[in-house]
Amino acid sequence: MIPFRDTYRDIPLYSPAKKPCRVDLSDNTNLFGAPPSADRVLREEGLLKLSRYPGSYAPDLKRAVARYAGVAVENVTTGCGSDDVIDCALRAFLEPGDVVAFPDPTFVMVPMFARLSALKPVPVPLRAGSDLDLDVEGLLATGAKLIYVCTPNNPTGTVASRAALERLVDQARGVVLIDQAYVEFTRGGDFLDLARTRPNVLVTRTMSKAFGLAGLRVGWGVGAPSLVAEVEKARGPYKHTTLGEAVAVSALTEDVPWMEACAAEAVENRERLRGGLRALGLEPLPSEGNFLLVPVPEARRVGEALRERNVNVRVFEGLTGVGDALRIGCGPWPLMSSALKALKEVL
Ligand code: PMP
Repeated sequence: MIPFRDTYRDIPLYSPAKKPCRVDLSDNTNLFGAPPSADRVLREEGLLKLSRYPGSYAPDLKRAVARYAGVAVENVTTGCGSDDVIDCALRAFLEPGDVVAFPDPTFVMVPMFARLSALKPVPVPLRAGSDLDLDVEGLLATGAKLIYVCTPNNPTGTVASRAALERLVDQARGVVLIDQAYVEFTRGGDFLDLARTRPNVLVTRTMSKAFGLAGLRVGWGVGAPSLVAEVEKARGPYKHTTLGEAVAVSALTEDVPWMEACAAEAVENRERLRGGLRALGLEPLPSEGNFLLVPVPEARRVGEALRERNVNVRVFEGLTGVGDALRIGCGPWPLMSSALKALKEVL
């Protein structure tokens, strides 16, 4: 018997059910496509860059992120998607056996990353009621050295209030990691200011959602230089491809107006979709992301029936405080309209 790692024995491979569908609304990416400058960079620089290693700690990307976020280069870390930045932060700040606390429900990869680093994931239910805000006292009571908060939250779409988040940051004994993968879709829910001013806040962001570059796997984090230096140790060198770094730089530099226009249209269509879902007797949760979470009984069966009609949405079963639900990504209206039509047939 080969002596594999004991703590890995019961960890499943993360692999959500996916069947190729004409309308794929399952992963909250930019359904309008990739940013315009990507085409030029890939054509003009692609082959030239392929034979060389990228800079070991992504110097060009860090400069572009620093300019975009209004911080110094020392405040920036980057990774292979924000998944990687989160994973590195857990490894950087916690010893095996330590507690990582997070609201429940939230981004499914967080308890997974915790277990992969032999940490103890401790979920704390979101507050009951219509706002689903953070249970600050509950999170603090875990004594966790790292508390993860996602806002807007995946999968609920709801946001953490500034008052709750500031109280959490002030009273936490360690790092508060604020995952803002969907911040471009919010009204005023940006917490980069906390990363700039507090010693214990790391804000993570991604090029995968509003910026339309999920395939390139680029994410970043902002925090105090001493925090960032620890995450960089856990990250190690060469986490981006040369092409991923070059396109992310051009998108952050040239394509912000395009990104903002896509995000605005996704938000507009999200609310139009809400109206359509209500007309079917459904009641989606309030959302500030580019998706809606819709409580639906027997979500797995409904999800499968939708896939048979070439529409893929993300199925959740038994979510804390919500129950079964579908998460529907938002983008161009014709896609939303296909989803509504299929749902009407299935329900
Ligand atoms: N955080 C949240 C809340 C997400 O939903 C996702 C992607 N599903 C990520 C982080 C990771 O995205 P990426 O690694 O592509 O940056």
